[in-house]
Amino acid sequence: MNISDFLSRVARVYGDKPAVSLGTTQLHTYSEFADRVQGLAGALRGELGLGVGDRVGLAMLNTPQYLEILVACWHAGLCVVPMNSKLHPKEFAYIIDNAGVKVCFVTGNLIDGISESLEAIDGFERMLCVNDDAYEALLRHPPIEMVDVSETDPAWIFYTSGTTGQPKGATLTHRTLLGMTLRYYADVDQLSPEDTYFHTAPMSHADGLYAIPHLIKASHHVVPESGGFDVEEIFGLLETYKNATFMAAPTMLTRMTNHPKAGSAKSENIKTIYYGGAPMYLEDTKRALATFGPCLIQIFGQGESPNTGTSLSKELHADNNNPKYEKRLSSVGLPRTGVEVRIVDEEDNEVPTGEIGEIVLKSDVVMAGYWNNSEATSQAIRDGWLHTGDIGFLDEDGFLTLKDRSKDMIISGGTNIYPREIEEVLLMDSRLDEVSVVGRPEPDWGEEVVAFVVLREGASATPEELEELCLNHIARFKRPKEYFFVDELPKSNYGKILKTELRKQLLEK
Ligand code: AMP
Repeated sequence: MNISDFLSRVARVYGDKPAVSLGTTQLHTYSEFADRVQGLAGALRGELGLGVGDRVGLAMLNTPQYLEILVACWHAGLCVVPMNSKLHPKEFAYIIDNAGVKVCFVTGNLIDGISESLEAIDGFERMLCVNDDAYEALLRHPPIEMVDVSETDPAWIFYTSGTTGQPKGATLTHRTLLGMTLRYYADVDQLSPEDTYFHTAPMSHADGLYAIPHLIKASHHVVPESGGFDVEEIFGLLETYKNATFMAAPTMLTRMTNHPKAGSAKSENIKTIYYGGAPMYLEDTKRALATFGPCLIQIFGQGESPNTGTSLSKELHADNNNPKYEKRLSSVGLPRTGVEVRIVDEEDNEVPTGEIGEIVLKSDVVMAGYWNNSEATSQAIRDGWLHTGDIGFLDEDGFLTLKDRSKDMIISGGTNIYPREIEEVLLMDSRLDEVSVVGRPEPDWGEEVVAFVVLREGASATPEELEELCLNHIARFKRPKEYFFVDELPKSNYGKILKTELRKQLLEK
């Protein structure tokens, strides 16, 4: 089973349907897309001499070429290694070396930065710039038939963000990607050639993974010209395209909601915004729903179980007469179809409903293991259960609620304080655009709570007002002892707020 086996079928049946556009300019139909893929696959196996199972890196911004490279590699029996385009050259080099990448596709802007650091890597053969004529020539290579692979063969090695230690390569097989795709149809949406998928988030991550269900159903892929998440550009694309689906990290979705033009955006052309990857606050979700309508679905997953752990469906987002509505909206939803979710203690014993522990997952969407790292694999997958490292609890109806990761939890005077609880309270004040609460070392208490606050444009607020808000909603000991008003919060390429960076700033202050 090869995950790319849809290609010839889609080209035959939907050959004249648009496959890829750059902004509002159509580039290829599905029949042209298939020709390009098959030609590039021929070049990878022929001219570039790659063998079945070889790894191909992608150090690329979001570009239309991304999709054809992914599919061409699978068609040729190769495994892709997409990398976050914002990595440091040394980090690219680490991954390329670790995964044994032989050939790496690169967008022009990254060439100078990384070429030197790749030179010394054993076994690395070539870097190919996707913006020059030589790349286009590869696509005109004689096409090859799809290579038959086993469903347990690696298809995508997904490198974790590596907030602690070196990144690890979660090995996703053809079966993993198929399992993820089928659950898209089961839990997210049905798709057809009438659907449009905006590539607004890095294609090396969730956005690229969910390209697969859209390719299989011949939906139209639109790569924004900016290559990223630009709110006005998205509103512009919604003037042209209907049935649009896109990914928004919580911070991006909030930016969209708070944009002055949000009210006049053509929200009726949005089919689905899926958000996840970091906590979404209750007040932000409510505002996003009020602005864009019932098109939101929340996904909880991780690279090790790609885009597939739990979800909070559109229906549950709209179920606002339910007495448990707010509680559910603050959760990450219910287990995805065919995914088992449990909460365990430190000895891996399941804990009773409502108790906090580590979230573990079991399904055929869980990675095969970490690439070349059996020690890390046996730590992460024990007895068939993927240990996510995330902390949370299941309620009596089976909804999963995440607590802050243990490294983000604040311990003050021996009491655990979960920053999210305070962040939720602060965001009740609509003058605040974003907040992040972290612990600051303090000699008597161990740590104390401090808050970083970004105000909405033109708004003002004082620490005294925020203090009063906190005192009205949470225990006194949880209230921030200091507020820092800042212009923006440090974020990763995937839109996650970098609390480690904030803690570092505090130590420097
Ligand atoms: P990554 O492997 O880069 O996709 O990161 C996965 C991690 O992001 C998870 O282990 C969680 O800590 C976090 N995460 C993913 N989805 C959500 C969500 N819906 N809400 C809160 N955190 C999330």
